[in-house]
Amino acid sequence: SQSIDPSLLAGLEPEQMQAFWMPFTANRHFKANPRLIVGAEGMYYTSADGRSVLDGFSGLWCSNAGHGRREISEAVAQQVQSLDYCPPFQFGHPDAFRLADRLAKMAPADLNHVFFCNSGSEAADTALKIARAYWRAKGQGSRTKLIGRVQGYHGVNFGGISVGGMVGNRKLFGPGVDADHLPHTLLPENAFSRGLPEHGGEEMANRLEELVGLHDASNIAAVIVEPFAGSAGVILPPKGYLQKLREICDKHDILLIFDEVITGFGRTGSAFAAEEFGVLPDIITTAKGISNAAVPLGAVFVRDHIHEAFMQGPEHLPELAHGYTYSAHPVACAAAMATLDIYENEKLFERVREISPYFEEAVHSLKGKPHVVDVRNYGLAAAIQLEPRAGEATKRAMEAVLGAWEDGVLLRWTGDTIAIAPPFIIEREQIDKIVETIAAQLEKIQ
Ligand code: PLP
Repeated sequence: SQSIDPSLLAGLEPEQMQAFWMPFTANRHFKANPRLIVGAEGMYYTSADGRSVLDGFSGLWCSNAGHGRREISEAVAQQVQSLDYCPPFQFGHPDAFRLADRLAKMAPADLNHVFFCNSGSEAADTALKIARAYWRAKGQGSRTKLIGRVQGYHGVNFGGISVGGMVGNRKLFGPGVDADHLPHTLLPENAFSRGLPEHGGEEMANRLEELVGLHDASNIAAVIVEPFAGSAGVILPPKGYLQKLREICDKHDILLIFDEVITGFGRTGSAFAAEEFGVLPDIITTAKGISNAAVPLGAVFVRDHIHEAFMQGPEHLPELAHGYTYSAHPVACAAAMATLDIYENEKLFERVREISPYFEEAVHSLKGKPHVVDVRNYGLAAAIQLEPRAGEATKRAMEAVLGAWEDGVLLRWTGDTIAIAPPFIIEREQIDKIVETIAAQLEKIQ
């Protein structure tokens, strides 16, 4: 710690770096090479050493309207003063109802009921519990098995890691909730596709029939997928894939859950990927962009028939024994309301639609650069897949992203991919800056 440049520490003593056990971070590496962020405005972060760093990742797929939005901070300040907290069990506050009503109107078809939580992980576990309880309510309690997908990411709680398809979770945490998995949809013949890939959609979705054949539909509660897998490196569904999944779920009476924590609130150019891809799930989970990440919030949307199945029995009893102390937190609701106003007033989802062809062109210009084996994109999300360095998987992407940070662009590495997902207010020159910075890093790294 002696050797850390004090200008990187934002006034912290080196010893003060030890207590905070950082999430999903190489703690020892970070603490030896701190990347502290001390401010944010619009498209830019400010680093501890006073540099302006272009946000190429919307923070962590979440600050969709850019940073430091005054409308949100004013709404939050006002809310803390007028009603800082309200118990969400047995009592309620009007903005929770107002927000749910507004969200339900934004959501496709009859996804008319909203259950609030605080994160994407809680949204995933809430949705999985609703799916199981739904089948009990319908008198089909044997339907308990959950189907996820290899490389899927549904947060870090026990339900989410069980349906998720990340090997690290199995290595570290042992058995979870009963689940099986579809294969991921990353096919070599689709490399360098622009938008949705052409090949393999039906075929990959048909693997669900095999799982139904193995487990029997009478044991399966739900299938959960991200419309496109974000955390695994923007793995897109080939054309027809999601439609076919829906068809097979209908045929066997299996619930279909879309995890839209990343794809929800505009990333694809529509409010929800369900709408963008024209496939209606039974349940949608969201978080992140719902509040522009200014205050944590998650929301689970369910269709009428799901909700209706619970609204039976004695009226004085809770229909679902589930919820969080901070469900529908007044401050989170205020942040979300102000966020939705911004999306609407500035037509930010349309903006994604308008600028994404330019973004697509720009990211695909990296084809042919050293180490690049695939480029994938949709809306304002893209991944540059690198050939792993022999014996040092993930290091190439890590070095490129760390180098980009030095050069004034914040990105993210995940495995051997560099991921890009800028706020929707990005300008063309800023897209150019991101792509030029990545290109320079690719030339530089070994
Ligand atoms: N689901 C998806 C698709 C995600 O991408 C994420 C986070 O990146 C989560 C769930 C978990 O969200 P959180 O980190 O808010 O718990």
